[in-house]
Amino acid sequence: MSEKITVGILKERDKSENRVSLVPRDVNLLIKMGLSVELENGAGEKAGFLNKDYENVGTKVSKKLSDKINIITSVNAFSSQGNSYVKNSLVISTTNLRNDNKIIEICKKNNLSVIAMEFVPRIARAQKLDALSSQASITGYKAGLIVANSLNKYIPLMMTAAGTLLPANVLVLGAGVAGLQAIATVKRLGADVTGYDIRLAAGEEIRSLGAKFISNEILQDSETDGDYAKEQSKKNQKSQLEFLKEYIIKADAVISTASIPGRPAPKLIEKKTIQLMKPGSVIVDVSAPLGGNCECTKLGEMVIINNIKIFGPSNLPSEMPYDASIVYSKNIFNLIELLLQDKKMEMNLHDEIIDAMLVIEKGKKRIRV
Ligand code: NAD
Repeated sequence: MSEKITVGILKERDKSENRVSLVPRDVNLLIKMGLSVELENGAGEKAGFLNKDYENVGTKVSKKLSDKINIITSVNAFSSQGNSYVKNSLVISTTNLRNDNKIIEICKKNNLSVIAMEFVPRIARAQKLDALSSQASITGYKAGLIVANSLNKYIPLMMTAAGTLLPANVLVLGAGVAGLQAIATVKRLGADVTGYDIRLAAGEEIRSLGAKFISNEILQDSETDGDYAKEQSKKNQKSQLEFLKEYIIKADAVISTASIPGRPAPKLIEKKTIQLMKPGSVIVDVSAPLGGNCECTKLGEMVIINNIKIFGPSNLPSEMPYDASIVYSKNIFNLIELLLQDKKMEMNLHDEIIDAMLVIEKGKKRIRV
């Protein structure tokens, strides 16, 4: 009888990472599918899932993952804070493969295959395993809450006996998954919201959330075939900065989420524009890990210029680890289910989802990154 396929849930090595890659509910489903699951001791604790919750559904808890493991799941398996790898296994995780050459070396040394969650194709069939979207939605929500907590004023219109207070004016730059969730969040809190994106298709979505849509007429046709934004020419970038300046100056808060896959984040907020903003204004630059949309952003820090706070959060989903883990785990479960359709550890490269996401096969890079 062939051995059961074993999944190992890694304890995240990055100290600032609070999420876990599989939650007990999905482990239970994997076990019902006939797989074995091992948990690295305490891997779910920071997200709110205890060893006993895993044990109750039939998981073995180990101090160190055994070398029987076929599939390792993680949020960030190749963290710069190190890791231990099970030779010859398949790692399913988000990675920083586009910027970190060391990953390929580690995979070569350990004969690892890698399915990188950030390579999910943006097609309808892949939505249920789209961790970019599930986590970006949390990022947008949290960015809205940072605005609410750090502004020196109310977000909604307040009509009180002591006078009327106008609603906060919030500008959201980039209306992908994170931007739209940020719009929805501050809108629910009562802000006067304006959204901007270079993809004209985003206009309809911005308006459907009750926000105003602004667009720069010169920037037509800014979308690739894959629904993503195109990087702008120098001339277009300059006209964008000019166009946005007056809206940024008027805003009480700016949430910037603009990005282009595989490229540095476009610069949309100049230092000289910040100097014209109202004191007490807030910028939350969620594109900080990609270099930031704002010239003054510092990753993982809050910078204050002229009494304007500029946040450069490095990992907002990790700040809401319970729900972030639940949705990430569901993405991972759906991926494993797709992979093991024939109950075998064979990669069906005719499936466009697996073909796009299997970035390293047995230590060899198979996708140009
Ligand atoms: P993203 O994180 O790549 O980018 C965020 C937003 O920034 C995008 O809306 C982009 O247009 C915008 N942007 C880029 N450069 C800009 C600039 N210079 N100025 C202003 N805005 C700029 O986006 P995402 O959230 O990953 O979504 C990307 C696309 O994929 C969207 O069209 C989205 O609807 C689509 N999508 C499809 C699926 C699916 O079908 N499975 C799932 C999720 C997202």
